[in-house]
Amino acid sequence: MADDADLTDAHLEREMQARLAWLRMRQQALPYRGQCYWCGEDVAPPKRWCDAECRDEWERQQRRGA
Ligand SMILES: [Zn+2]
Repeated sequence: MADDADLTDAHLEREMQARLAWLRMRQQALPYRGQCYWCGEDVAPPKRWCDAECRDEWERQQRRGA
């Protein structure tokens, strides 16, 4: 039988999974546009960010609801 802490963890876990899935969907829906979505540097197709750092920053901004 689960106690309250377990229920909360399970809930948070589901929230996180849902958010990640949403982010991934958003990322996949983004068209290649020739420049990094975060800093505007030129990138080769099919990349949409120069590197993981730019993508992470962009993700963080998306998560803040910007
Ligand atoms: Zn960049």
